[in-house]
Amino acid sequence: MCFANTIVETHKKFITPKEGGVYIHTKAEHREICDKNPNLYNMSRTKSRLQIEVCGDCGASDPSWASINRGILLCSDCCSVHRSLGRHISMVKSLRQGTWEPSVLNFVNSLNAHGANSVWEHHLLDTNSSKNDKGMPRVRKPNPKDPLHPVKSDFIKSKHVNLVFVLKSNLQEEGIISGVNLENELSRQLHASVRTSNLETSLRLLVQGANPNYFHEEKRSTPLHVAAKFGQASQIELLIANGADINAIDGNGLTPLEVAKSNNHNVIAERLLDSLYEVTDRIIMFLGGKKPDHSSGCHLIIPETNNTEISEQLTIARNRLQVVPNKMFEELVMDLYDEVDRRENEASKIINLSVFK
Ligand SMILES: [Zn+2]
Repeated sequence: MCFANTIVETHKKFITPKEGGVYIHTKAEHREICDKNPNLYNMSRTKSRLQIEVCGDCGASDPSWASINRGILLCSDCCSVHRSLGRHISMVKSLRQGTWEPSVLNFVNSLNAHGANSVWEHHLLDTNSSKNDKGMPRVRKPNPKDPLHPVKSDFIKSKHVNLVFVLKSNLQEEGIISGVNLENELSRQLHASVRTSNLETSLRLLVQGANPNYFHEEKRSTPLHVAAKFGQASQIELLIANGADINAIDGNGLTPLEVAKSNNHNVIAERLLDSLYEVTDRIIMFLGGKKPDHSSGCHLIIPETNNTEISEQLTIARNRLQVVPNKMFEELVMDLYDEVDRRENEASKIINLSVFK
């Protein structure tokens, strides 16, 4: 058992876990949460707003998962392959369980509806593509009835890991620029693109190699500052999903959160504030089922413990944590976050399967 697992297991004894330690919303609980917190969508209502409801990888109808950073919906079969690839490739989330931040759901919905899949499958869709002219073997996209292994899984790896169907930048194809110069040019284009609502362009630029943390020397800001200034909530989600640093400082010493506030984009400012605490919030929700209210200055909720049962094992674990170097602690928290993500997704998968029994 890894260290992260041990921590989850240890703390489970001192909280009131639901469904074996994974906080799962029943319909009634979910409704209650949404009533109390209008910022959280009730998926049963918003699911109908997802416009292209087929699996992006095999075309199966009624997909029950989404890949947040890929901007596509997935069936449970294809999702299982995405999960095996890791969160750095695909961040999957159930459409049927749990809660979604409205801005994340809008972002996924918008990206899916406006052709994110055509970015990942450009050369499959474009029959006049130069790649086909060059004799690239014709690849058939799987259909829902194809076997998961090897047909769907091989296709998913080609599409999402090796990016073989993605259109390269003209600048790169024609050998005009390369290396750092190419990245800088794509990043400058991204810096300009995120002020508009055109998500697909920003996605293409990121896929082609634009740096989400590019600091524009003349404009003295990063793409996240620009999106915050122009109130582009979905562009902010795209940048965060692709590794943009929420704490980046612009030429005036301001973070994107401060830029959003100074431009009266209060909903975006709230979302950026929440994003600062995403890791601890997710872990706290998992352990105790409550999310801290950051707007009121509450950033942590310590799960209630049964003082009479604090074990020797927990005391030893706490003492050890006190002396862990920062870098190692950071890695430990990342492991813990991944473990929470795995368990929540596993629980969603089990519930999804039980619906069909
Ligand atoms: Zn599928």
